Amino acid sequence: MKALAKLTRDKGLTLTDLPMPEVGHNDLLIKITKTAICGTDMHIWNWDEWAQKTIPVPMQVGHEYIGVVAGMGQEVSGFTIGQRVSGEGHITCGYCRNCRAGRRHLCRNTVGVGVNRAGAFAEYLVIPAFNAFPIPDNISDDLAAIFDPFGNAVHTALSFNLTGEDVLITGAGPIGIMAVAIAKHVAARHVVITDVNDYRLDLARQMGATRAVNVLREDLPTVMKELDMHEGFDVGLEMSGNPSAFRQMLTQMNHGGKIALLGIPPEETAIDWNQVIFKGLELKGVYGREMFETWYKMVALIQSGLDISPLITHHFKVDDFEQGFAAMNSGSSGKVILDWTA
Ligand code: NAD
Ligand code: ZN
Repeated sequence: MKALAKLTRDKGLTLTDLPMPEVGHNDLLIKITKTAICGTDMHIWNWDEWAQKTIPVPMQVGHEYIGVVAGMGQEVSGFTIGQRVSGEGHITCGYCRNCRAGRRHLCRNTVGVGVNRAGAFAEYLVIPAFNAFPIPDNISDDLAAIFDPFGNAVHTALSFNLTGEDVLITGAGPIGIMAVAIAKHVAARHVVITDVNDYRLDLARQMGATRAVNVLREDLPTVMKELDMHEGFDVGLEMSGNPSAFRQMLTQMNHGGKIALLGIPPEETAIDWNQVIFKGLELKGVYGREMFETWYKMVALIQSGLDISPLITHHFKVDDFEQGFAAMNSGSSGKVILDWTA
């Protein structure tokens, strides 16, 4: 089968021919329809320090996808051939304390599809049937293909009550932009997002941001005054992984504010802890999606009118994958979709 894989410990990926994956007793075989490129795939493509120490080679990568059920192991029930599915990319152990308590997103033995085991950039993917999530007919292939990062945005944004609150989002990457739309959909008051990339700030504006602030040119406290905000933000969603963005967020939070941290900073980022302590801030780390509460909420949010489709800015056939990765690397893109059926 056709697959996009890292074949050498070097920059880039190769479109290659790999054997069909084996289907275990509890597995689902998925014929991939569309995939999307994640920031993680860019790290793997660019073969940075994180990728070099994390990704085994050879490796079939990718974890954002939609496909149809093409086969199943003998123990699997509840799925039908041809059914549209996406899947949770974190495969959990099932026996640690958190797994047994139903808190699978906190499993200490998580294995990542397309990171630690064969991924979705291929004609066929095998995952445990437990991880597959059926996609309702009224949700498009394009949207379902980005459920993985949409889930990061939903999990983070819904960590705290946003209704009527003033929300600061740092980082207008695809996930920060989706968080803007979610926050507006659940009736936050002001949703302010920061970045240093004008293309992405424009997208965030299209998705409903009250203000999209380029911190290289604009002063956040001035923007807050213009919005008649005198006390600070109630909720912060850190989605840049940039230490200076996080420090700026801490300074602009109101006392008692709550912050959900999704962005992955460099190790050992220093912050002013006095901001956390004397303001009584609450900080929550967020990893992945809740299994499977976040998935049900994603479906329900879209079915209740949330529109994240403007975020999908580029489509390519998989044979033109290099153009897709170039679009992502340029910074002038939202989500990039690769079509495996064209
Ligand atoms: P991304 O890299 O596309 O977006 C990050 C954005 O932050 C970029 O647009 C960048 O220009 C912006 N930025 C840089 N400096 C900034 C500054 N000083 N102020 C404000 N913004 C600044 O990433 P993404 O795919 O949208 O993901 C968001 C973050 O979440 C990344 O750090 C990613 O690694 C992380 N992530 C975490 C999880 C998890 O489970 N915890 C899952 C997915 C992604
Ligand atoms: Zn576990």
